[in-house]
Amino acid sequence: MITIKSLQEIELMRQAGRIVASTLRELAKAVKPGVTTMQLDTLARRHIEKLNARPAFLGYQGFPASICASVNEEVVHGIPGPRRLEAGDIISIDVGAYFKGYYGDAAATFPVEKVSPLAERLMKVTKDSLFKGIEKARPGNHLYDISAAVQAHVESNGFSVVRKYVGHGIGTEMHEEPQVPNFGPPGRGPLLEAGMVLAIEPMVNTGTWDVKTLDDGWTVITKDGSLSAHFEHTVAILQDGPEILTSF
Ligand code: MG
Repeated sequence: MITIKSLQEIELMRQAGRIVASTLRELAKAVKPGVTTMQLDTLARRHIEKLNARPAFLGYQGFPASICASVNEEVVHGIPGPRRLEAGDIISIDVGAYFKGYYGDAAATFPVEKVSPLAERLMKVTKDSLFKGIEKARPGNHLYDISAAVQAHVESNGFSVVRKYVGHGIGTEMHEEPQVPNFGPPGRGPLLEAGMVLAIEPMVNTGTWDVKTLDDGWTVITKDGSLSAHFEHTVAILQDGPEILTSF
C-alpha cells in the first residue's frame, strides 16, 4: 500500500524536510581535514535536537549513531567513529529527522578540500542523476520512469548504480512502500499520484555496482574498492509536479 498524504501532512513533511536540509548545510560547513566522523555525528544530533526533532537513524534497527557517514569506497550506512577526514576524501552523509510524526531523509556526498577529477565527476553525475529522477516524479508517470532516468544518466557516464539498496516511500514511517530502485525499465511499476512522497536516492559507483557489508554489520562498501557517491532527497509528488522537501 502506497500511502497518499494530504496537503496538511505534506506541510508537516516540509517541516521535517527543512530540519534535515539545515542539518546538511551545517555538516557541509564542518567537513574538513582532521574532523572525525564522530564529531560530524555529534554536530548533527545536537542540531536536530535543538530544532525539537529526533535523529531518525539513532537506534533504527540498532544503528548506533545519528548520521550515516560513508567515506570513499564506503557506499552507505557507515558508522561514525574516530576516523579523521583527509584532504582528497569524499564523504557521503545521510541524515534523517523525525518531527511531529513525520520523517525527512536526505543525503549528499561532500569533497574534503580538493578531490581527484574522477571523484569530482562521480559526485556531479550522481547528483545530476538524482535530479533526472526527481523530474520524473509527477502524476501520471510510472514509478520506474524515475528509476530508468537515474540509471540512464549514470550508465551513459560510465558509472554504475547500486542494485542492493534502493529509495523508498516515506511519511509516518521512515521506510514505506514503494521501493524506489535506481535501475529498471521505464513505463513499469505503480502509477504515480499526487500525495505520494518518495525518498529518491541514487548510490553510484565508479566501478562495479556490486557491494559487500563489513564485519561491523552496517558499513556497505563497493566490492571492487572503487569510489561511491550518494545523493538523496525527500520528494512530494504534487498535482503540478515534484516538490523537493529537503532542498539545501
Ligand atoms: Mg533514504
